[in-house]
Amino acid sequence: MRCVKTIDENGRITIPKYMRKMIGISGAENLDVMLMDEVGQIVLRRRVPKCAVCGSPKNLREINGAHICRGCAAAVSALNKKEL
Ligand SMILES: [Zn+2]
Repeated sequence: MRCVKTIDENGRITIPKYMRKMIGISGAENLDVMLMDEVGQIVLRRRVPKCAVCGSPKNLREINGAHICRGCAAAVSALNKKEL
C-alpha cells in the first residue's frame, strides 16, 4: 500500500488517516524514524512496547521507562529470593 504525499518546507507530512487506522494509531504517538540511506528511504515504525528481557509484547509493566513482562518479572524476583 502506498500513496504520494508532499513534504512541507519544515519536513512535515501527514500520514493518511486510513493508514493510521489500519495500524491502530488513533492519536498522538511517538514513531521511530529510520533513515535507510543506502536505499534512499525513510521508514516510520510504530513503537510497540516489548519486554526488555524476552521481547514479548504481552502483560507488560513499565519500570523507569523500560518494559518487562509478568513472566520475566517473576523470574527476576525468584532470582533475587535465591540470592538473599
Ligand atoms: Zn519478558
